[in-house]
Amino acid sequence: MDLTAFIRDVPDFPKPGIVFKDIAPLIADRAAFRVAIEQLACPYRAAPVDLVVGIEARGFIFGAALALELGAGFVPIRKPGKLPSATISAEYELEYGTDSMEIHTDAIAEGQKIALVDDLLATGGTMAAACQLVSALKGEIAGLSFVIELTFLHGREKLGDWPIHALIRY
Ligand code: AMP
Repeated sequence: MDLTAFIRDVPDFPKPGIVFKDIAPLIADRAAFRVAIEQLACPYRAAPVDLVVGIEARGFIFGAALALELGAGFVPIRKPGKLPSATISAEYELEYGTDSMEIHTDAIAEGQKIALVDDLLATGGTMAAACQLVSALKGEIAGLSFVIELTFLHGREKLGDWPIHALIRY
């Protein structure tokens, strides 16, 4: 199945010059969604993970489904102020200024094997910050998984030596 057929390009969203890669058609199609989750699961079949960590918000959609597929738990990384219990946070660069994300301090036990998931890898800042949080809690990162990678933005260069998996590369 050609998953690219289920990605909608939306020009000038959220601002002029950006081509937004919309995954809504993919998750709305039951066959395409299933294929995407099965393909995301592939790298972790031989070496199972304990937890899938998903990044708000579209990382939750794929991350939760992937966790079920792998028989793993799911942990959310959220925007500031959303998680109710004790958290740690990491800052990352935006085009203008910085933003931050949070994880519960008790979400990961030392040495647990972790797959991190987001819908799309662009400049890599978001996933790099997520990796910082997982590493701070002493999780063992098994892989970083994306539905889409925008290769021309070279996000991989921010992501160290961890295995990176992307279903669709532009
Ligand atoms: P980055 O930190 O630059 O790798 O940006 C990745 C995050 O921003 C992901 O959570 C994506 O959902 C979102 N994102 C960045 N660029 C796009 C794009 N062109 N289309 C859809 N989402 C994007």
